[in-house]
Amino acid sequence: SSIFAAVEMAPRDPILGLNEAFNGDARDTKVNLGVGVYFDDNGKIPLLAAVKAAEETRLKAAPPRGYQPIEGPAAYNTAVQNLLFGKDSDLLAAGRVITAQAIGGTGALKIGADYLKRLNPEAKVYISNPSWENHRALFEAAGFIVEDYAYYDAGTRGVNFAGMKADLNKMAPGSVVLLHACCHNPTGADMSDAQWAEVVGICQERGLVPFLDMAYQGFADGIDADAVAIRAFSASGLQFFASSSFSKNFSLYGERVGALSVVTASKEESARVLSQVKRVIRTNYSNPPIHGGALVAAVLASGELRAQWETELAGMRDRIRAMRAGLVDAIKATGCAQDFSFVAQQRGMFSYTGLTAAQVERMKEEFGIYAVSTGRICLAALNTKNLDYVAKAIAAVTK
Ligand code: PMP
Repeated sequence: SSIFAAVEMAPRDPILGLNEAFNGDARDTKVNLGVGVYFDDNGKIPLLAAVKAAEETRLKAAPPRGYQPIEGPAAYNTAVQNLLFGKDSDLLAAGRVITAQAIGGTGALKIGADYLKRLNPEAKVYISNPSWENHRALFEAAGFIVEDYAYYDAGTRGVNFAGMKADLNKMAPGSVVLLHACCHNPTGADMSDAQWAEVVGICQERGLVPFLDMAYQGFADGIDADAVAIRAFSASGLQFFASSSFSKNFSLYGERVGALSVVTASKEESARVLSQVKRVIRTNYSNPPIHGGALVAAVLASGELRAQWETELAGMRDRIRAMRAGLVDAIKATGCAQDFSFVAQQRGMFSYTGLTAAQVERMKEEFGIYAVSTGRICLAALNTKNLDYVAKAIAAVTK
């Protein structure tokens, strides 16, 4: 018999399953709020003008396609470091940060997880409740036991900070704490600067290992403002990990552009840590692909293209904000009794709307509006054409 005869079907990815159902829906009013992608007002994934210009230049130059260094090119890694830590960072000047290009933010998390498993095989990993659904699977696949810490408060639709602190204070020294650096996915609820400072203090007191996942830099308040957590941990003297993704802020999803950064205690330590991270990469996929990283590095290295990118990034950020405010107003205008003003306070692409699984199901059946059963919606899938329709549907199912 076949060696695969006893293989079981793996569970379907809930969000990809949603996309399949959406694609099969014949209604022309249908809306997909389930995806984690930024769409423009025409419902298209944008190709940023800064990226297009960098790509055209590169095409003309037609560079050869040799192997890259295992950790990716220095120009790219330096650009990533400047975004995360700020170009005047003391840590960077002291050689205390190592960065390796990675295959998207997911690849960065995976390289970090594999390296952490070698560094401290006994550590537990803690993720927020709830979190991006791949966090748990990814760290479990790296061999860790993964547990939750309290995060979201459904009552206030904000962060359950007392609960979170209580959980952090119970963790054993050496535990890895995965934190969303900004634009929490799936809830849209972020910590304040003062709360971040407290989290840094607890991590320091308890000897925890922070891992900051930065998948939406620039989508909340701006490039530097969104790095507040990175900067707070940088000032603390702690060692920590950070994953970056350029899927959203450069609209380069399928090019798989990301990076893993690790903050060490010294330049000499950095050399040793980088050698180990390179070993993880070498035995996974040897070295990273060229194209997407080269585009990001070219945009960030050029004064003109960088300014253009910042303007385009601000445009995406402002559009999401406008859709948040617009949805709140449009729901109110229907006479809906339920208060949705929290949607305008949350940040990033997502909101936990508080819609129940049954209400989400009705949105799909009656309106062709698709959302995740947890009630998570992607604000960046709203536009000036579908906003009122979605607002009416939400009002109808919450009546
Ligand atoms: N972390 C979080 C919190 C995310 O939301 C995502 C993307 N949805 C990722 C990591 C992965 O990013 P990438 O697509 O670049 O792998």
